[in-house]
Amino acid sequence: MSSATNQIVAALQRLTLFWRASLWKVAKELGLNPTQCEILTRVAARPERLADLALALGITQASLSDSVAALASKGLLRRQPDPADGRARRIVATEAGQALAARMPEAPEALQGAVAGLGAIDAAGLLRSLTLIIRSLQEAQAIPVQHMCLTCRYFRPHAHDDPVRPHHCAFVDAAFGDAALRLDCADHETATEEAAARAWAVLAEVG
Ligand code: SF4
Repeated sequence: MSSATNQIVAALQRLTLFWRASLWKVAKELGLNPTQCEILTRVAARPERLADLALALGITQASLSDSVAALASKGLLRRQPDPADGRARRIVATEAGQALAARMPEAPEALQGAVAGLGAIDAAGLLRSLTLIIRSLQEAQAIPVQHMCLTCRYFRPHAHDDPVRPHHCAFVDAAFGDAALRLDCADHETATEEAAARAWAVLAEVG
């Protein structure tokens, strides 16, 4: 590995350790474990089917079922028919689950403060780099595919000459910059493999 690669990997490792320790602390205070916290946070934001949730969290349906059963026994989750498919069921947060999820910080406060303190250019560059790293890991099948701009059929990277807002979202028909690249967008629709590969190449090439 090059020296820069070593340093970046070391930095990511340090941030991961810090995040994991913070998540364990929050989970313990709430009487949950970190996986249960993640499940509750996701379904409080958007009801999901078991299979989709397992895929998004990168765990097996069997371990997810155990965690869902534990959360259901605490009255925080329940299963209900999916309005989009009468034969399928999805997991939703109960009122108590929503209330508990609202008490969970999106990220450790110290980390949020550090990121918020970045200048606009550094923040945009960091988000662009993280987007490329995550897409690369998805391509290697190391992490699940997310609802991110780089895999969205509405994403048009570097469609405009404007250096501040070079990209275009065809869903809202608006230009946007690196700082607004999304990693989990509710309006995402999956692009073809060819289109996603093209978008990735364009974003990676035009720095
Ligand atoms: S719909 Fe969402 S994910 Fe798709 S390009 Fe627009 S902002 Fe990105």
